[in-house]
Amino acid sequence: MHRVYLDNNATTPILPEVFEAMRPYFGERFGNASSIHRHGQDARAAVEGARESIAALLACHPSEIVFTSGGTEADNLAIFGLTAAGDHLITSGIEHDAVIHACKHAEEVGCEVTVLPVDAHGVIDPTDVRRALQPNTKLISIMMANNETGVLQPVGEIGKIAAEAGVFFHTDAVQAAGKVAVNVQEIGCHALSISGHKVHAPQGVGALYVRKGTKIRPLLYGGRHERSRRAGTENVPGIVALGKAAQLAKEGLVRGDEQKIAALRDRLQQGVLNQVQEAGVNGDGAPRVPNTTNIYFDHIEGEALVISLDLKGLAVSAGSACSSGAVEPSHVLVSMGLRPDRAHASIRFSLGKQTTAADIDFALALVPETVARLRELSPSFKRQAVRA
Ligand code: PLP
Repeated sequence: MHRVYLDNNATTPILPEVFEAMRPYFGERFGNASSIHRHGQDARAAVEGARESIAALLACHPSEIVFTSGGTEADNLAIFGLTAAGDHLITSGIEHDAVIHACKHAEEVGCEVTVLPVDAHGVIDPTDVRRALQPNTKLISIMMANNETGVLQPVGEIGKIAAEAGVFFHTDAVQAAGKVAVNVQEIGCHALSISGHKVHAPQGVGALYVRKGTKIRPLLYGGRHERSRRAGTENVPGIVALGKAAQLAKEGLVRGDEQKIAALRDRLQQGVLNQVQEAGVNGDGAPRVPNTTNIYFDHIEGEALVISLDLKGLAVSAGSACSSGAVEPSHVLVSMGLRPDRAHASIRFSLGKQTTAADIDFALALVPETVARLRELSPSFKRQAVRA
């Protein structure tokens, strides 16, 4: 069966160049990067080369990169590493669970947490951030791009507010890195998270940028890896892959690949809206990353649409991958003020570097007819048809 994958915000396929770069580190270059012999030196050189590529993508110094097991660990390291009991933290209602649940736990262990709202487009108002500051505020954690809607947050303005107030600013850039320019100097953040599997590297590797001079308490205790900021033998193949993916992402941004992805996304979005009534884009009008569109189709269940499309070969998602299967509507869409039934009727399409025009044609051929078929079975659609 022909299959098309439009769920790149859940995970991305590993690019062939990335796979080739990491392959030797599973075989002949198997060394431990802490060993002083040749095997170790080869592994160390590869880790440091990857660190340089990632630093180039984020516009920072290589020594400011701490490798982690992924985006979740990077977020947790920032939140628990920069705060202690008695501190106040500011975050938002649309963060990924890696931040939301870390902040909830921080609250349980004695921090105060303010969760900021977003407007109908899914954007945080920086003046709300300023207003939420308290004398004991230690950290602001606001994401750069939302995983469900792709909406970009005004992180540069928030960075300025953090600097004026003298508080730490962490941003989860897991869904922004590689899709838009991410420059830690321009953002003015002290910490920034990225994840390998969102940028065509493997799952289980990520990194946290930590601004030089920022004292961060480690989550893990052990050896002095990563300048004592993250203990544990480095995942050399994963790190090499993340470095290669960062290099390719940077080259792609320079070449303008993302504009091509945005054009495909816009064609998909417009094509769907032209053919389907009572549908609309969540986050429309706000700046978004180029690869994502989140569309509601009134009178249907998003999960049912995901399953029907999957049976025909198209992979998309309803809400975030981590919460699918849950009965609760997406917290992101609910925070934007969507009615629960509309939040339940929303689907995320997310493109990747390998998405083609033919993939978009395939989706455009399937989505309208599948929505129409599901609506025929929908009691609320039938009621409305009778009224009309
Ligand atoms: N932050 C955001 C915005 C994400 O989309 C994700 C993954 O979906 C994560 C953090 C977690 O990253 P990882 O899966 O590498 O732990």
